[in-house]
Amino acid sequence: MNGSRVLVLNSGSSSVKYQLLDMADGSRPASGIVERIGEGPVTDHAAALKQVADELAAKGLGLDSPELAAVGHRVVHGGTRFTEPTLITDEVVGEIEKLIPLAPLHNPANVTGIKVARSLRPDLPQVAVFDTAFHSTIPEAAARYAIDVATADRWGVRRYGFHGTSHAYVSRATAKLLGKEPAEVNTIVLHLGNGASASAVRGGTCVETSMGLTPLEGLVMGTRSGDIDPAAIFHLSRVGGMSTDEIDTLLNKRSGLAGLCGDNDMREIGRRMGEGDRAAQLAFDIYIHRLRKYVGAYTAVLGRVDAIAFTAGVGENSAAVREAAMRGLTAFGIEVDGVRNALRSAAARLISTEASRVAVAVVPTDEELEIASQTFDLVSA
Ligand code: ADP
Repeated sequence: MNGSRVLVLNSGSSSVKYQLLDMADGSRPASGIVERIGEGPVTDHAAALKQVADELAAKGLGLDSPELAAVGHRVVHGGTRFTEPTLITDEVVGEIEKLIPLAPLHNPANVTGIKVARSLRPDLPQVAVFDTAFHSTIPEAAARYAIDVATADRWGVRRYGFHGTSHAYVSRATAKLLGKEPAEVNTIVLHLGNGASASAVRGGTCVETSMGLTPLEGLVMGTRSGDIDPAAIFHLSRVGGMSTDEIDTLLNKRSGLAGLCGDNDMREIGRRMGEGDRAAQLAFDIYIHRLRKYVGAYTAVLGRVDAIAFTAGVGENSAAVREAAMRGLTAFGIEVDGVRNALRSAAARLISTEASRVAVAVVPTDEELEIASQTFDLVSA
């Protein structure tokens, strides 16, 4: 292998995001997004990937360039089969396809992206990096739901967790910020984007996470409910007459902040709260209440917490969310400094006081870099 560049592809249901990273000098010569697949001129994923290839070629960075060492694909669900970044072969593609029932919204697009990219450059090593992989170390006591074991195993019903690439990157970056090795640090990572999840990481190893069989469980999200009594579903079906698909759409697309107040963007919710909007305030309060519950629970799971890291769109940008989530937790050894918290910066930084026993940090996530690093490490090993 000669090249030092990795093309990272994130094929979603209606978009393909790409970034070209140079692992030798840390530069990012190209990035972009092809959106609205299936709606306009971009009829399908093949057309979208073709457009990515054309955009790269127009910059003199085409897929045939000798600097390109590999392609790294983000794959949402690796089931119990994939716990490491994996060199893609026909057999691996088949295995990822077999996981489609576990992630019907995500894995099909990931598979299509892989197939098209392989057809464009069959000779180039391509690597799948799974969103679930970092969580594969979660102990059985945390990964199993308390339901009939045979039924759970037959249908693969267990906690897999998602956003793993981000939790892995941020937990390591947090240790680095503290000047320590990951093995020395226990961290609660709060990935708060449109989707949101928490994880408890003990000495670099993930031991608990809030998303489950699917990304629906856990925290209140932009449009997803997070935790809810599963019997609410029977009730909506039997008494409310709703179909399974309608309830699926309700909980995934018409819930969370959007369901509670009509807006899923924390900026807009903050603005409305400033005007005294009660629905926006209640949505914020419910969001914060759930977040604090998880911080408390994960503190108990870890026993000793060294750091709490906020990341992703809300976690990196909303001082109000961080302040409200950490307020009044001095008994837990958590104390946020108001001035530090209010400072805006793109860098990883501490927002806790000098006296705070637990370091509270804002650590920008970088899933593309993590996928590129894992891909490059694998192909250059
Ligand atoms: P995704 O899960 O789609 O990758 P992001 O991590 O980019 O999402 O997070 C997007 C969310 O971040 C937005 O919906 C918005 O709620 C929030 N956000 C972005 N910028 C800000 C900001 N300046 N202040 C508060 N919230 C923000």
